Amino acid sequence: MRLTIYKKMMLGFLTIIAIMICVNAYMVYELNLVSNAAHTTLSSDVLSINLAKGIRTRLYEEEQDAGKYLIAHDNTYFAMFSDGSSRLTEELDSLISVQTDAARYELLQMVRSKHDVFTSAVIGEQVLSRATTRKSNKNAPPTFDQGQFESFPILHEALDRFMRLSQASIDQAMANVELTTQQSARVALILTFGTLLVALTIAFFITRTITHPIEAVIRGTQQIARGSFGQIKVTSHDETSLLADAVNDMSNQLRQINEYKAAMMRQISHELRTPLQTILSAQYILSEQKLGGLNPEQLRLLGSMRGNIDKLIKFTNAFLDIAKIEAGKMEYELVLADLLSIVAAAVEDAQVLAERKGVHIAVSASPIPYIMADVEKLSQVFTNLVSNAIKYTDKDGTITINVARHGNGARVSIADTGIGIASEDLPKIFVKFYQASNASKVGAKGTGLGLALVKAFVEGQGGAVTATSTLGAGSTFCVDFPAADLATLAPSTPAIAQSQRSADGLA
Ligand code: ADP
Repeated sequence: MRLTIYKKMMLGFLTIIAIMICVNAYMVYELNLVSNAAHTTLSSDVLSINLAKGIRTRLYEEEQDAGKYLIAHDNTYFAMFSDGSSRLTEELDSLISVQTDAARYELLQMVRSKHDVFTSAVIGEQVLSRATTRKSNKNAPPTFDQGQFESFPILHEALDRFMRLSQASIDQAMANVELTTQQSARVALILTFGTLLVALTIAFFITRTITHPIEAVIRGTQQIARGSFGQIKVTSHDETSLLADAVNDMSNQLRQINEYKAAMMRQISHELRTPLQTILSAQYILSEQKLGGLNPEQLRLLGSMRGNIDKLIKFTNAFLDIAKIEAGKMEYELVLADLLSIVAAAVEDAQVLAERKGVHIAVSASPIPYIMADVEKLSQVFTNLVSNAIKYTDKDGTITINVARHGNGARVSIADTGIGIASEDLPKIFVKFYQASNASKVGAKGTGLGLALVKAFVEGQGGAVTATSTLGAGSTFCVDFPAADLATLAPSTPAIAQSQRSADGLA
């Protein structure tokens, strides 16, 4: 399914919102349970206790009214007794009707039946006294059994017990409410943290699915900027994959343009080389005066012509090398090499030029391991660096060349006391055709290809080159190479065996 960044984010937000709604609904449900439990407790048990208290009071009154009536046989007392008794019965019935607990129900039923027995006995006495002898003989003995009054302590005790049970039920209910509240609070806390964790996981996942492909596109474009025109692989199906497709298209086009450019550069170099060789031969024949004698002015012109032909040939060769490097066609013949002797040869070649300019070259060296290098190309590297140092150093300046062990490899540093390079130019000096602002200060004109070739050649052979400089004070170029791994080379080959001996001798 193609999920755009917008859809992914909306889906994430909606999921988080849905989880939060569920959690809140659960918490509301739990609170409702707690509130219902509290409500039931208050409306049922508290009401029962209040009713039971009322019934107990009424029971006292009833006992007294009955007693008075049985002594005085006054119908006013009977009426009070009868009224109180029927109200008590009503209240008792309504209390019985709301009971859900069997024990309390039984207790009230017992109160009800004992009370009924007592009421019936009093009413029986009243009926009897009205109908018969008491009308004519007021002193006739009472038929009411006084033992009936003994049921009152039992009834009071039963009502007290009922109230104690109801209070215990309230306490139990309140304990349950407290327990439920604590549990709900714990669950709410867990759910809150759970929701937070889920929200963070979703946010992290969505962010990763967005940033991961973007990082791949950034890495891809950085490689394209460095001249490697590979394809960016993005597994997501959102806008980033469209962006990756567009960058891949661009990369393809750039590769084609680059190949075309490299082919053109090679073509131009080849086209220039043949006529240059012809001009060089003609210049040689003329300057050797093989076709007749020349005057000094003609010879001077031919000398100047030779200098320019050399420059053109040098430029054409550098141009061709750059074209080969860019097309990935530069080949290196790596052999076990003695870095010190390569540097020494380059310095020797440059001495004439340095002396002519009045620049002093100082070389120092300490034992270094052998390296793997293409001797011809590495010579070109040091020739370029040393000739640059001479070119950009004024008369009486010094070039200090040091060859020493560096880490487990070797380092050659070429430091001059020349014009230096501005800090804003320094990162660009290895870019082909780049000439820093200081280049205009020196008389000799350059091509801007020398350092680009130095970097490509050094890195092509497994080394690294760096530059530091202070404007007006001088520059230092360092070339580092790892030590050759002699253990991986076949020791039986004579060249290697000899190198091993030399290396042992140097170390
Ligand atoms: P160029 O042919 O112009 O010397 P390079 O590629 O060799 O081209 O050098 C690039 C630029 O780096 C030069 O134009 C110059 O500005 C600067 N540069 C190189 N070496 C030095 C140095 N030793 N001192 C000062 N500037 C230097």
